[in-house]
Amino acid sequence: MKVPFLDLSRFDKQLQEELKKAFEKVLVKGIFSGGEEVGVFCEKVKSKLGSKFAIPCANGTDALELALRALEIGPGDEVIVPALTWVSTAEAVIMVGAKPIFWDTDLDGLLGENWEKAITSKTKAVIPVHLYGKMPDMDRLCQKAKAKANRLYVIEDAAQAFGAIQNGKAAGTFGDVGCLSFYPTKNFGALGEAGMCLTQNPEIFKKISLLINHGQPSRDEHVMVGRNSRIDSLQAGFLNVFLSHFDHFQKRRKVLANRYLSELSDIKGLRFLSGISEEDHSVHLFPIFLERRDELKNFLSAKGIGTAIHYPNILPEMFPYRIQGQFAVSKNISASGLSLPLNPWLKDQEQTFIIECVRAFFIRE
Ligand SMILES: *Cc1c(COP(=O)(O)O)cnc(C)c1O
Repeated sequence: MKVPFLDLSRFDKQLQEELKKAFEKVLVKGIFSGGEEVGVFCEKVKSKLGSKFAIPCANGTDALELALRALEIGPGDEVIVPALTWVSTAEAVIMVGAKPIFWDTDLDGLLGENWEKAITSKTKAVIPVHLYGKMPDMDRLCQKAKAKANRLYVIEDAAQAFGAIQNGKAAGTFGDVGCLSFYPTKNFGALGEAGMCLTQNPEIFKKISLLINHGQPSRDEHVMVGRNSRIDSLQAGFLNVFLSHFDHFQKRRKVLANRYLSELSDIKGLRFLSGISEEDHSVHLFPIFLERRDELKNFLSAKGIGTAIHYPNILPEMFPYRIQGQFAVSKNISASGLSLPLNPWLKDQEQTFIIECVRAFFIRE
């Protein structure tokens, strides 16, 4: 049996037909940027996530950069980011001329307690990352950030957490700006590149709306220097289709995650994320943690099972971001984490095989 980590050619016939129809609709209309699809997508996401404003954009990395620009963060400013994340989080900070200040994560890969110790007079914002789909305690984080002594902006990197809900509020709606990615492999992905900024603030909404479109409120009028970070009409059309299947797909993710937990959690030497069954985890990824990670990865690979590592390197140890410092927990996660296949297209018998193989690895000796 061959079990891919993720195979996006597995969409069922019905979904494929709906996507083809969405393509045809756009093709017939002949409007490929903006238009009805984008407007509908915006409204749907706003109502789904309970967000006052939503600005679709070209990708999740742009969403982060747009958020930073809209909040006027730039040269001389510092932004606190977790040491373990996808590079975009720190990359966007550097692209606007500011400096990322790395802070160690907790055992779930989320910005660690006491991050406020990294605050200096130059700190302007903190970017919590909902890594693997899990939200940190956002009320607590925002309280610290907004305390009179700190007055920091909160930019949520919710690229992996679409649909996660904490205390009745969706991931991306706690911060001054929430950034989403619809990269195809995410738990809510397009058939190409797309992203979004969420905000509850009308001024920030206006600014990001201008920034993504050359600072142009109406044709040939430019009120600020912006850029082009618009979403494709086609991607918005496809996302509208995927959104109608989202709840169903998420249910399937939870079922698979709970089965992994119930059938693997008796194994000594395996650690799992906490709270993966809870509402504030999107189950974008399902990493397990163990000492002999590379051995297990090779063992599963020999059985035909694809796995992935999120992420093999922490940012402070990557060449473009290198700084000295202790990031013991992030390093540990990075050295011991292995993501097992978990996606709506994974079949029951495939999961059975994965579970058998993981168990076999531990019983071998
Ligand atoms: C995917 C991702 C991004 C960037 O999204 P793109 O759409 O690929 O640019 C940013 N942050 C995190 C944590 C991500 O996983």
